Amino acid sequence: MFSRRQALLALTALASACGPQLEPSLAPPREMAVWCPLNGPRLGLERGVVENRGTCDTVVAVFTQYLEAYQSRWQKVPALPEWTIRVVADRPTQGASPGSFFAGQTFWDSRTIDIYQGSLSVLPHEVHHVALGPASDNHQGWCPFGDWEAAEGILEEHSYLGCPSPSAPAGFAPPVAPAR
Ligand SMILES: [Zn+2]
Repeated sequence: MFSRRQALLALTALASACGPQLEPSLAPPREMAVWCPLNGPRLGLERGVVENRGTCDTVVAVFTQYLEAYQSRWQKVPALPEWTIRVVADRPTQGASPGSFFAGQTFWDSRTIDIYQGSLSVLPHEVHHVALGPASDNHQGWCPFGDWEAAEGILEEHSYLGCPSPSAPAGFAPPVAPAR
């Protein structure tokens, strides 16, 4: 289970969990200030993340919990160690509609996931894409995943996924604002 503190990392309702699907799906070059020891995929932090006091310790701690939670409910993702996760300083805006931004993007051809530093909680969503493959781009059949994310206090994205929002269990407060 996740602490409420981590739930505060979740997104605003305006955010989309993942970016537009472009062809080819190649990650733009980015320079990482530091590479972190995450068990599995490569994990890099951009300079602006480090300058914002983001450290390997904090990001690895959060991502490890997300990955363990994901694998305990869904599946191991054998391909994940071949992927690179980059925590980026600025919100990706390419292809976003006004007032919206993408919290994370999965670049299939580069095996790279970019995640905005203020939206670390989108990691399980992007990992779910990696588990299911490129055909998962349309999020069809993701409502049980959305239910799980919300119940765990990770992310509320029923609306984004086009799913009905179940009545919240007692004591669960949907996040209403990002922590930063
Ligand atoms: Zn997605």
